Amino acid sequence: MLRRSAPFAGGRNAVVSWSFLRRCIGAGSTHDLHSRSMNTARSYDIAIVGGGIIGLATAQRLITLYPNLTFCVLEKEKQLSTHQTGHNSGVVHCGIYYKPGTLKAKLCVEGLDLTYKYCDENGIPYKKCGKLIVAVEDKEIPLLNNLFDRGKMNGVRDLTMVDKKGIKEIEPNCEGMFAIVSPNTGIVDWAQVSNSYGENFKKAGGDIYTSYHVNDFSCATESSRSQSKEEGLTHPVTIHGKDVPAINCRYVITCGGLYSDRLAEKSGCSRVPRIVPFRGDYLVLKPDKSNLVNGNIYPVPDPNFPFLGVHFTPRMDGSVWLGPNAVLAFAREGYKLWNVNLRDLGDALAFRGLRKLMYKYFTFGVGEYYRGIYIAAQVKQLQKYVPKLTANDVIRGPSGVRAQALDVDGNLVDDFVFDGGVGDLGSRMLHVRNAPSPAATSSLAIAKMVAEEATQRFHL
Ligand SMILES: Cc1cc2nc3c(=O)[nH]c(=O)nc-3n(C[C@H](O)[C@H](O)[C@H](O)COP(=O)(O)OP(=O)(O)OC[C@H]3O[C@@H](n4cnc5c(N)ncnc54)[C@H](O)[C@@H]3O)c2cc1C
Repeated sequence: MLRRSAPFAGGRNAVVSWSFLRRCIGAGSTHDLHSRSMNTARSYDIAIVGGGIIGLATAQRLITLYPNLTFCVLEKEKQLSTHQTGHNSGVVHCGIYYKPGTLKAKLCVEGLDLTYKYCDENGIPYKKCGKLIVAVEDKEIPLLNNLFDRGKMNGVRDLTMVDKKGIKEIEPNCEGMFAIVSPNTGIVDWAQVSNSYGENFKKAGGDIYTSYHVNDFSCATESSRSQSKEEGLTHPVTIHGKDVPAINCRYVITCGGLYSDRLAEKSGCSRVPRIVPFRGDYLVLKPDKSNLVNGNIYPVPDPNFPFLGVHFTPRMDGSVWLGPNAVLAFAREGYKLWNVNLRDLGDALAFRGLRKLMYKYFTFGVGEYYRGIYIAAQVKQLQKYVPKLTANDVIRGPSGVRAQALDVDGNLVDDFVFDGGVGDLGSRMLHVRNAPSPAATSSLAIAKMVAEEATQRFHL
């Protein structure tokens, strides 16, 4: 389901101002920006806020479609792809799980093919190491069968079902009764893919400004136009950054991940769907145990719970991650248990939708915290699939934070949500408010959809 609810001057060949550039990219950053002078007035046709995989895929798509328009990407961190895009499982999903007919299902299936093609064309390594979804108890077998049918309905290719013996042939250390085999599921470094979108965007003439924290948007009115009459008329939207010069543009697209709701609010959109951050902690197999698995091993997801369950995921560097769990994070970018942001926490707890969700999943939530703290408890879950695994085989690994969109009734908003706003400003904004997992896999397909939406809304 798709829901809709002091200026610069510049052109494509402006000269770089090093002092500003240092502030923009941080000295020595490998994200060398397209050379630009930022001490003179600057304006663009379209500014894209958010340098994660969705913002960069969208930027790349739009500049290809509209080479005569000018584009910039504004990212608050020193580097691109730092948040969800740089903190995930690294799986190229095949699209089994999602309800047939939804955009999530369609875009994932399409996104997998587009991803492999893009990686081939751009020299990005990936591995089609495949995936097993394993039923370990009788009661999971009907669910596994449903999942298999769902995958077929979604158009997932080459799915097969194997029994205990078939599981052993693929994963000698894995125990299970039956498993779905998805040979086209793969792994890739999503940050590398996303940064490559950024490079292609720059090659096509786009500008990327890192360390550009967007604070607010305003739209020129008749009175404000007197300051810079011509700019006000042609590029009426002003983006106000924190300690950086403002940027003028005609239209704005926001792809703000964990801050997508707050960015949308700035152009008069509703506060819901609200983003609630859910942290996922990974364990990592000790290097001498990395050969315990060959590919991805996933449980049969419990339909009563919103997340996929902890899994075994090989990484491109040869390591194997186990997880992630799902616990409420106390800060939107809180990668550690003790990271607390009072505004984020207060905002989340004051939201009726989260309280309802917590009430509904209270026991599950407590279990997730417990397993997050006690490694042995998490390992016990994983031993159902690989009995040889012991707590001595793992160490604590990194974490990621999911931008989970919630409605006021505590339901997880599962599909993409576009929004605009009201008035002069709202009609020039397109907010991508929810791009849930597997949005990395679907990024190129999502970008096509965002570009179509922008074309329609902005009459490009
Ligand atoms: C733990 C975890 C595991 C996952 N596993 C997978 C997987 O295996 N496969 C898969 O396909 N997907 C996976 N996903 C989902 C996928 O990573 C995300 O859906 C995707 O990365 C979202 O990209 P994004 O660009 O919307 O968000 P982000 O990557 O979070 O990017 C948003 C960007 O906006 C910037 N921003 C925010 N506010 C501002 C502002 N005011 N000014 C300027 N910039 C701003 C942020 O700094 C950030 O860089 C996983 C996600 C998580 C968290």
